[in-house]
Amino acid sequence: MWNVLSSSLEPAPAPAVDFLRWQFIEPWSRSVEAAYRSMIRMTELTVDVVDHFTTLKHIDELTRKLISGTHTFNPLLVEAPSSPPAPARRVALITGGCGGIGTEICRRLAKSGMQVVATYIVQETDYARQWQMERRAENLEVAIAECDVTDFQSCTRMAASVEEEFGGVDVLVNCAGITRDNTLRKMDESHWHAVLDTNLDSVFNVTKQFIDGMSNRRFGRIISISSVNGQKGQFGQTNYSAAKAGMTGFTRSLARELADQGITVNTLSPGYVNTRMAMAVPEDVRKGITDKIPVGRFAEPSEIAHAVAFLASDESGYITGSDLSINGGLFMY
Ligand code: NDP
Repeated sequence: MWNVLSSSLEPAPAPAVDFLRWQFIEPWSRSVEAAYRSMIRMTELTVDVVDHFTTLKHIDELTRKLISGTHTFNPLLVEAPSSPPAPARRVALITGGCGGIGTEICRRLAKSGMQVVATYIVQETDYARQWQMERRAENLEVAIAECDVTDFQSCTRMAASVEEEFGGVDVLVNCAGITRDNTLRKMDESHWHAVLDTNLDSVFNVTKQFIDGMSNRRFGRIISISSVNGQKGQFGQTNYSAAKAGMTGFTRSLARELADQGITVNTLSPGYVNTRMAMAVPEDVRKGITDKIPVGRFAEPSEIAHAVAFLASDESGYITGSDLSINGGLFMY
């Protein structure tokens, strides 16, 4: 009767169960759903925090402990790794990278998986582009950056563009160098300064650009190519020997300054290497030099590159302030 009298346009009064659903069950289930979403979000945030503070190695270790029941999971108490995880790809910058020894260093580091940048001077732009194409033909992608290592401002500009493109330099190889040989009596002042500027001031000009970035990332390898003639002296090379010996003094001091920041600083002192620099020495003099080398020959540039790769590796973090001789036994001390 009650149903018949009611207009068909009016809703039927809700039975008690519907009333309960609208008044209590639905609001309660919405709260439960909101709480559930918050829990999911909390879990995601926790995973982010764990990812941030641990390396994969630590997570593996943690997982093993959790599975074996020997560890109570508390992400906020996860021990931070002692050093930051290595980036996917190290960036190496080689000054004079298009030269004889520089080219082999670029090849070697690129083959080891590093992003390599070779610097060149503006007068050699065409040569540098051609050089880059040759590396490409060898399946090696090497970037090139213009820079005069004797000019601090030029080095600052180069560093800014390299950092913008690659995010920073992890391995720096100071390889640019020249010779202007003569006895001191006959040596021009300009030849003294050219050799000191290119071989020694350059190390200051370039290295200073990158040490802050290396320090912030707690990793760096600075390797400067010195010479056996900086160790023992050489007739007609007061300028060159002074510059190369200066490099080792610079290196030892900087190694002390940066040792606690994950940055190593070393020199390599090659003997005579088969490049155009060594070929500039007259043939009879080269023959006389070879006779004095216990190994009986000049070095190949790849032999110097091999030592650079060794010092540049992540595993060489305990070698700093050293001067590595690569001279076939020509000079031992
Ligand atoms: P190269 O002449 O082949 O290479 C030297 C490089 O330095 C070149 O790419 C050159 O560029 C670059 N360079 C010169 N001046 C400047 C500058 N102002 N700004 C930027 N780049 C510059 O010589 P090596 O490969 O034989 O020598 C490489 C390093 O090894 C040098 O420091 C040298 O002193 C050292 N060394 C060499 C030995 C040897 O027997 N060859 C022995 C011991 C040490 P560019 O070609 O455009 O002028």
